Amino acid sequence: MSRELTLALIDAAAAAIAADADELTRLDQAIGDGDHGTNLARGFKAIAAEREKLADAPPGEALQKAGMLLVSQVGGASGPLYGSLLMAMGKSLQAGQGPIDAFAEGVEAVKRRGKSDVGAKTMLDVLVPCVAALRVASPETALVELRRAAIEGREATRPMQATRGRASFLGERSVGHVDPGAASSALLVETVCDVLEKRA
Ligand code: ADP
Ligand code: MG
Repeated sequence: MSRELTLALIDAAAAAIAADADELTRLDQAIGDGDHGTNLARGFKAIAAEREKLADAPPGEALQKAGMLLVSQVGGASGPLYGSLLMAMGKSLQAGQGPIDAFAEGVEAVKRRGKSDVGAKTMLDVLVPCVAALRVASPETALVELRRAAIEGREATRPMQATRGRASFLGERSVGHVDPGAASSALLVETVCDVLEKRA
């Protein structure tokens, strides 16, 4: 991966999270404690502050470092979860696996860390279908299918009752709202698609 691509991904992700932080916080106000937007904005600001250093590193190492920044900078459940995702992806890339296998390893790490899976109304309702979409898509359709899976996964959380995370404390009252972590995952996946499509 080129230095320019790493910089473009970091800048686009940080900008997207900053732009949607209020909306993510609003979603978390409905079924959580209202900090998801500020949590992620802080984390991605920390990553953006290291953009040059991260771009100089090999991609696997950069992902591990970015993951560690999220763990250390983001309070709340989502820091360690997104941190695990990036760190496991980085480790897998460094071990020589391809990007789809690396992403799949990252999502498995989120499952382990969160003791969770699809259907619990979390970020996994976006991440797991995204892996599945990439597994079956052809290289030509991968980004379109990835984007579709992310948006469908986010919307699928609306009718769900949360069984993991803070929203699970609300029981049936969690029904009818999009999960904030699913929304941020979809946003990040869409942002990666935007950057890769522009380069294609
Ligand atoms: P907190 O819930 O500690 O305030 P955030 O608001 O930053 O942390 O993040 C909340 C999001 O984290 C949820 O919307 C959900 O998507 C995700 N999440 C919480 N717990 C889990 C879990 N056990 N497994 C997977 N994702 C989870
Ligand atoms: Mg919260």
